[in-house]
Amino acid sequence: MATQARFGVIGAGMSGILAAIKLQEAGFDYVVFEKADDVGGTWRENTYPGIACDVPSHIYSYSFALNPDWSYLCSPGQEVQAYFQSISERYGILDNVRFGDAVARCTWNEPGWEVETASGHTEQVDWIIAATGILHHPKLPDIPGVGSFAGPAFHSARWDHDVELDGKRIGLIGTGSSGVQITGALAPRVEKLSVFQRTAQWVVPMAQEAYSDEEKQAFRTDADLLQDLHDKMSTGFNDGFGTAILDANSGIADDFEATCRAELQRIDDEDLRARLTPDYRAGCKRLVVSHNFYDAVQSNSVDIVTDDITAVEATGVRTADGKLHELDVLVYATGFHVDRFMRPMRIEGRDGVLLDDVWSERPTAYLAVAVPQFPNFFMLNGPNSPVGNFSLIQTAEMQFAYTMALLDHAVGEGFTTAEPTEAAAAAFDDERVAAATETVWATGCRSWYLDDRGIPFAWPFTFSRFRSEMEQPRLADYHFA
Ligand code: NAP
Repeated sequence: MATQARFGVIGAGMSGILAAIKLQEAGFDYVVFEKADDVGGTWRENTYPGIACDVPSHIYSYSFALNPDWSYLCSPGQEVQAYFQSISERYGILDNVRFGDAVARCTWNEPGWEVETASGHTEQVDWIIAATGILHHPKLPDIPGVGSFAGPAFHSARWDHDVELDGKRIGLIGTGSSGVQITGALAPRVEKLSVFQRTAQWVVPMAQEAYSDEEKQAFRTDADLLQDLHDKMSTGFNDGFGTAILDANSGIADDFEATCRAELQRIDDEDLRARLTPDYRAGCKRLVVSHNFYDAVQSNSVDIVTDDITAVEATGVRTADGKLHELDVLVYATGFHVDRFMRPMRIEGRDGVLLDDVWSERPTAYLAVAVPQFPNFFMLNGPNSPVGNFSLIQTAEMQFAYTMALLDHAVGEGFTTAEPTEAAAAAFDDERVAAATETVWATGCRSWYLDDRGIPFAWPFTFSRFRSEMEQPRLADYHFA
């Protein structure tokens, strides 16, 4: 592969670190733009009490840097962040990262890109890898009075660790994956935790299993053992869970729901159990994984509030029954603006076309990686990527390999640019939308997986389809120049 091409990688989270390591190993010149002062992305930003990766740690690892030292089946967030920091150091990429300066603009200037940061610094690169993540623009709820609470109030991804929680009355709005983890961690510490639940969640039990020193030692000394564990977990996740999502009527989907229903039986109080029972198919919303949520909600300190919130007031949260829930601290675990991706950056492609305009209705991407009129611009975990169905890290690794294969082809044929054709992108999108409406995500629930039309935006095909698309780029779908 030629090494003349210069790369700009946007973001030093899980995907950006991966891109940097691979580019460095292949001998490319590259620069990583990171808005914050550290690597880690979502794991740097989310530090709320109880944070843990709810995907088994041995598959939430790079394939080339398996970690024998994970402490738990699903390790704490701080450990995941430490993993990304140590890998970045071990692979020597940190000197190539421009920390603390967000990308403001990327402008296509044939045959490459000009990247300008918020500080006015500019760089010329030939290819861009956008690795900006999806869950990083906190969303506050559209409830009257948000902002009027007089005490400390913050979003789950902007946790204020200076605020005292022990013995306090905490209000928590939201019962997604973040809210559920926060509930489990705060229940034993606070005087009262009022959890405002708008929609009941299916909860998959996941034991909090610690790896023993002997197991970790065995992983350290026997690389095959570690590899086998990774591969088995990976296959189970991608083929099992990934398949259940694609066919809401499959046996695997039934098994998931049965597991969740059995877990619900741990709630002794019938009224509480009824309020915690979802009225939609398990898997329609992103499944919540927890080892302690149902214990927490049955403890004396936790109150599950299912009356609609009518307003946030200076002293607490008011519900439709007229009750004011008086609080000392208010936490919004209300999710993210998932359609932003790298925006609000100004991305100006061929002939001045703006990504903001191309995505004015909703973000889409050919095979989840590229957009017509934006040459040499590839995304990792971008729009229409698998999310929640396959391992995010494996997905990013395959998308990166795909980008390299295209570059290889372009260079081999004497070209300098590659962009998907409009026809290929439109055909993919039509097929994707048709398949998406058949998935469990489209069986009738409100969720962040749905676009503005109510169509699930994630990859709606099998893992093997994803793998083969990524392994063998359809060259005819690209315009090379
Ligand atoms: P989320 O899944 O979008 O959940 C947001 C919660 O806020 C939902 O319960 C939602 O209720 C509620 N909400 C939003 N607006 C509201 C309003 N106006 N009034 C009342 N309630 C409102 O957000 P998240 O929990 O931060 O999770 C986002 C994603 O991050 C997850 O799905 C997962 O992919 C990822 N995550 C992963 C981990 C991990 O361990 N790997 C941990 C945390 C998060 P409705 O259900 O009614 O909409």
